[in-house]
Amino acid sequence: MADSDYDLSIRQYLEDGTAILRRVSDSPRLDAELLMGMVLRKPRSFLHAWPEQQLSEEEAACYEELLRRRFAGEPIAYMTGIREFWSMPLRVTPAVLIPRPETELLVERALLRLPEDEETRVLDLGAGSGAVSLAIARERPRAQVIGVDISLAALELARGNAKLQKIDNVEFRESDWFDAVRGEKFNIVVGNPPYVAEDDPHLGRGDARFEPRLALDAGVGGMNCFRAILERAHNYIVRQGWLLLEHGPDQHMALRRLMEAQHYHDITLHKDAAGRDRVTECRFVE
Ligand code: GLN
Repeated sequence: MADSDYDLSIRQYLEDGTAILRRVSDSPRLDAELLMGMVLRKPRSFLHAWPEQQLSEEEAACYEELLRRRFAGEPIAYMTGIREFWSMPLRVTPAVLIPRPETELLVERALLRLPEDEETRVLDLGAGSGAVSLAIARERPRAQVIGVDISLAALELARGNAKLQKIDNVEFRESDWFDAVRGEKFNIVVGNPPYVAEDDPHLGRGDARFEPRLALDAGVGGMNCFRAILERAHNYIVRQGWLLLEHGPDQHMALRRLMEAQHYHDITLHKDAAGRDRVTECRFVE
């Protein structure tokens, strides 16, 4: 069907798509390939193996429509419905925050506090797609992980992701922070709660524009959720147990003060791969 005047090959469409997306994306080539993969219902490896294959008119129109949506800012993860976290492809929808690579640091630090050979209990506050809960549950089969979220749509997605990944030492509960775990104690409490300041221009840029405000915006200074969590967390942590929270690059000192006010010990900051303050942990002693 190839029109001799035009090159309608996968290679050409990918090149054109990459050039267009360069203006709006940090990963234009990858985005173009993911969108092409969606259109052809093939893995990216297929695109590399068959760059000369021609697109039908219908496929080309479909690809161009996807490029338009991506150009208008729609996050690639919401378009493909998949985002990889901790090497697990997870389902994501606009009901949840798109898991960020830097959040793997929260998982890494939590794992260091979780012995492999013991039965432990872990609570994940604001589970969203389930990324953090699932990564911990996968790495610590003897741990029982409970992920809580206030959003029913998020819970449904997280439960689906657990099934998809065949992880069964995890449970997701509807909860306003600790409401659904009253009377229970955990060895470790982790959380990536909303922590963006309500007036942060970041909310109006990039993927964040399309993400649920509920999962990002934490009022003045972005501290509302941290405050709510720290007022109650000590009731749910075993003696010598740990609390680990992801936060913004400029929030460590404010968070440290809240932790000190609640008499936590061993307050320690961890930086992400980009060298930014990202996770603070502390131990509940009394
Ligand atoms: N790191 C996220 C962002 O910068 C914020 C995540 C959160 O609020 N929990 O968009």
